[in-house]
Amino acid sequence: MQFTEFGLDKRLLSAIEHMGFEQATEIQHQAIPAAMSGHDLIASSKTGSGKTLAYLLPAMQRLIKNRPLAKRDPRVVILTPTRELAKQVFAQLRLFTSGTQFKSVLILGGENFNDQVKVLEKDPQFIVATPGRLADHLSQGHFYLNGLELLILDEADRMLDLGFSKQLAQINKAADHRKRQTLMFSATLDHAQVNDFALELLNKPKRIAIGHAH
Ligand code: ADP
Ligand code: MG
Repeated sequence: MQFTEFGLDKRLLSAIEHMGFEQATEIQHQAIPAAMSGHDLIASSKTGSGKTLAYLLPAMQRLIKNRPLAKRDPRVVILTPTRELAKQVFAQLRLFTSGTQFKSVLILGGENFNDQVKVLEKDPQFIVATPGRLADHLSQGHFYLNGLELLILDEADRMLDLGFSKQLAQINKAADHRKRQTLMFSATLDHAQVNDFALELLNKPKRIAIGHAH
């Protein structure tokens, strides 16, 4: 399937063209339409199969098409297990947001806390973060999640392996389940903790599993 067939905004298509991509990968083919139709997702496919664009494109599309639920709150939060992954995701996100009105910020553990407070005060629409540091800012009231539209958990299995379940539960609780959509991506789904967590965080999720048994 070609990217042009998803009904994505022209600006997104031109960014994809710049990246040099034409054909969606299998996970993109399945996850993009499902996410665009508003479903919560629990999706898995192997490393290197293109999961980042599978969630960044529906996220961007939603921001472009929908009115914000709240003026100041972030609209999309993307959580990743490691600083390195968060930086990679952020770099891909910037290929879509640079030159638009959408502000995106990267909030990582180990970096200057007060600098992050200042950045959060600018009311970014997108936050890419590692869960521990984001949960700290949330506890201290440096931002709110009442207007959150999309919560994305990238490499959910690794986040749970690294012991972030408490922080994830805290972030989950701060954002209204009825208003937001949740997308959970991981390399495998045969991880009991991922499934338990999915029950808690996701609302009637659609399951997408590429390249391994359901
Ligand atoms: P995953 O998260 O599944 O490990 P990534 O999102 O990191 O995979 O993508 C792996 C690589 O494939 C990246 O270099 C990305 O730019 C590239 N890629 C993503 N989608 C496509 C596509 N549709 N066609 C060609 N390359 C792609
Ligand atoms: Mg990935």
